[in-house]
Amino acid sequence: MGHRVPNHKSKCRNPHGHRYRLELTVRGAVIATQGDSSEGMVHDFGDLKTALTKHIHDVLDHGFMLAESDTTMRAFYESCDEEFRVVVVPFIPTAENIACWCYEQLNGVIPRSLKIARLRLFETPNSWADYLPENAE
Ligand SMILES: [Zn+2]
Repeated sequence: MGHRVPNHKSKCRNPHGHRYRLELTVRGAVIATQGDSSEGMVHDFGDLKTALTKHIHDVLDHGFMLAESDTTMRAFYESCDEEFRVVVVPFIPTAENIACWCYEQLNGVIPRSLKIARLRLFETPNSWADYLPENAE
């Protein structure tokens, strides 16, 4: 996904992209119902992968996350005759804010029996932000 940090003092103000990676950690009770498809699991990994793919990956992949306050880039996209995958958000698309956005996308989608304990968004293999909902205001 592409982004830019419009006010950044250095190179991050240029439009560029990352191979973001998102880790989701959930908390919940192990299902003890004998014979249940998910017996012995907190939740089926496949169901979580489906939710992440639909609500995060497919929305952002090969797109550009654009701050609504970024009038320069908004003017560029609005002047284009082609349609591009642009996700306009009310915040600067830093790793911290994107991790929080991912939480908002997933909260209410994953089953109520699960709590999102952590979302870790890697911008690069060595740079990431953690969103810990229980510590959020
Ligand atoms: Zn970046």
